[in-house]
Amino acid sequence: MPTDLSPVDDELARALTDERERQRETLSLVASENYASEAVLAAQGSVLTNKYAEGTPGARYYAGCEHADEVEELAADRARDLFGADHVNVQPHSGTQANLAAFLALLDAGDSVLSLDLTSGGHLSHGFEHSLVGRHYDVDHYGVDPETGRLDYDAIEAQARDVEPDLLVSGYSAYPRQVDWEQMQAIADSVGAYHVADIGHLTGLVAAGVHPSPVGVADVVTCSTHKSIRSGRGGMVMCDEEYADAIDRAVMPGCQGGPLMHSVAGKAAGFYEALQPGFDEYARRVLDNAAVLADHLRKRGFDLVSGGTDVHFALVDFRESHPDLTGATAEDVLADVGLVCNKQTVPGEPRSPTVGSGLRIGTPAVTTRGFGEDATRRLAEVVADLLDAPDDAGVRENARDVVTDLCREFPLYEDGARVVDP
Ligand SMILES: *Cc1c(COP(=O)(O)O)cnc(C)c1O
Repeated sequence: MPTDLSPVDDELARALTDERERQRETLSLVASENYASEAVLAAQGSVLTNKYAEGTPGARYYAGCEHADEVEELAADRARDLFGADHVNVQPHSGTQANLAAFLALLDAGDSVLSLDLTSGGHLSHGFEHSLVGRHYDVDHYGVDPETGRLDYDAIEAQARDVEPDLLVSGYSAYPRQVDWEQMQAIADSVGAYHVADIGHLTGLVAAGVHPSPVGVADVVTCSTHKSIRSGRGGMVMCDEEYADAIDRAVMPGCQGGPLMHSVAGKAAGFYEALQPGFDEYARRVLDNAAVLADHLRKRGFDLVSGGTDVHFALVDFRESHPDLTGATAEDVLADVGLVCNKQTVPGEPRSPTVGSGLRIGTPAVTTRGFGEDATRRLAEVVADLLDAPDDAGVRENARDVVTDLCREFPLYEDGARVVDP
């Protein structure tokens, strides 16, 4: 791979080789990360990066798009198969761009949006004040119930009646429970609002049928394509035929120029893998492993937001059990032994978002490496030991050994070894 660069660009080659080694020798517990297969990497690193293909298959603004058309149609057809959507646009450069396109298609400048607040697990692209969405729309936020950590649909409905939003957003970055898409659609309908469901994190779980799908329920469904679905990096919008033209125009020229056709190829490669029978089993194991992790942490005395998980991560809340520990410190302590995850705010967060009182620990990536319940239990044990005694040198040393063993037992990007074995 990166060795191809070394004769011409040593500096960059070294950085890429180092990054490959970092990924091989650490474990990603970042809930939004995954390890792409060699096929996805090859597609994303392909000559399609050279091609301009503004427009849609068969209706481009450039000549020479016949193979770009094939690739985009493969990606879109496979996405339709996976999610059962009427219409798919696979061109958004990212999940954030997919959301921008959805808002642009459905709203006028100054219209109002109701979405989950950041500290409760919402995403920046749903109306953070310094984002385009926050700047150009009138954004209000709902929260989660501070006691249960769960969405309170009655409270959201009451707030929606009060705010009368033009658009209601569901789908989150750090909400550990299933979302009732029908309820959210009913709330949107009751106030005449559009409903955008953002399954950024949940793509693989929804595609495999282990989490309910908002496709066919919400007006528009948006997502990233590199998280639990493990395809090429980027975003995607799905909708009924009635919104198809508006969405396509909102993606281009609304908020993008030429699509990243190499990323579209990466999406096609990843969606192919997600259509193979092994993928559903993978998604089930992601959930099983998250449940094992959550159970274990709870038994070791950690509080979890909402008390557990229905999804691919556990969200630890340190406030009561470990009041001196912050999310930022926990992130550093784990990173020091090769466990890469991210600090998180918790509902009712007293600390700044750059510090946080929580930690989000996800299983999509380690499950791709082959983790089952035993390995996850060993991992959970080490995480709990470290968080209980962040300054104990012996604990750290043991943790490093366990991480090294697990990386060796579940190798990544070994010569000849495939990450994904469909
Ligand atoms: C990750 C995420 C996004 C943004 O995706 P990017 O591809 O990073 O822009 C949007 N919405 C939700 C809910 C996410 O979790």
